[in-house]
Amino acid sequence: MTIAIIGAGVAGATCAHTLRDQVDCRVFEKSRGIGGRLATRRHEDAEWDHGAPYFTARSKVFQAFLQPAIASGQLQTWIPRQTPLEFGQPAYKRSWFEPHYIGVPTMKDWLKPRFDRARLTLNTQIDGITGQSGAWFLHANGHRFGPFKWVISTVPLDQSQAIFQRLAEMPHAEYLCQWALLARLEQAPSWSLALAKDSIIERLTINSSKPERASPPTLVATAQPAWSRDQFDQPHEAIKAKMQAAVESLLDQRVNPHAVHRWRYAKVLQPHTERFWLEGSQQLGGCGDWGGNEGVEAAFLSAKALTDQLQTHLR
Ligand SMILES: Cc1cc2nc3c(=O)[nH]c(=O)nc-3n(C[C@H](O)[C@H](O)[C@H](O)COP(=O)(O)OP(=O)(O)OC[C@H]3O[C@@H](n4cnc5c(N)ncnc54)[C@H](O)[C@@H]3O)c2cc1C
Repeated sequence: MTIAIIGAGVAGATCAHTLRDQVDCRVFEKSRGIGGRLATRRHEDAEWDHGAPYFTARSKVFQAFLQPAIASGQLQTWIPRQTPLEFGQPAYKRSWFEPHYIGVPTMKDWLKPRFDRARLTLNTQIDGITGQSGAWFLHANGHRFGPFKWVISTVPLDQSQAIFQRLAEMPHAEYLCQWALLARLEQAPSWSLALAKDSIIERLTINSSKPERASPPTLVATAQPAWSRDQFDQPHEAIKAKMQAAVESLLDQRVNPHAVHRWRYAKVLQPHTERFWLEGSQQLGGCGDWGGNEGVEAAFLSAKALTDQLQTHLR
């Protein structure tokens, strides 16, 4: 039996890994690599984790899922020098109260082994589905794949809706968009993570200060979600200039901007009350971080809950 999974982020990796002993999984991913919003961009000798910069693991079940990657060194805890940063005010240090994990050497590498028994099809954006319960076909740019017994979508809900059309009653969740600025620094500051106040910037991460990053000093700044929403359709160059100016006034030093990235679905504003959706009679389902509000862990918990339920149908 083959199951199709759409999306190769944390939720897709969790589905593929959890189901690996029972079914053949075929994973379709629109990008050229896995990871989704666990993303790293490289340019020459510099690199930036411009999606989630780190994540936490509060539930025992997620901690257990991470254990092999922690043991192999692909996930490490990061203890940054953290500071609140206000324009014109000196930075001061705060400490973490729980472990924060980062992927090594990039945020997404620890997910790769989770796909080891799945057939991964990259650069393939699913744009529709035909067929019927138990014999679904997925479509991408004129190509047809299938048949699949079940189809599980891990893409943001409104994108899932576009794929499934009227086949399934899907829940609704609201997302916040966010602009991210990727920049080089002449010199790294004394702290490695700052939450800004009174600024269009929300968070600054000194990416190069993370363990096992061979990059020269680099920074990722994410903008406040409200500002990002207001500036959603602005040209990249205009956003780059505004964010550069805001970061420079916070840091009191010049920065060299490389690029900006617009995340349409950065965070979940209003999670859905259900962790996942599953239409047993249709043999369709969906999961992702919209099933909770803790980012990476929410994506995992949603996918885990869905696959637990799905396993009862597969017996
Ligand atoms: C700037 C930023 C900062 C963040 N900070 C944090 C943080 O500090 N801590 C935290 O825990 N979380 C954070 N997050 C959120 C976290 O990254 C996400 O919650 C989590 O990675 C979501 O995983 P997912 O598998 O649900 O979705 P995704 O990672 O989005 O995976 C979905 C995948 O589906 C693919 N896809 C989409 N449409 C199609 C299609 N039609 N066909 C095929 N493939 C498709 C996408 O390319 C993607 O790879 C942050 C995110 C961003 C963007």
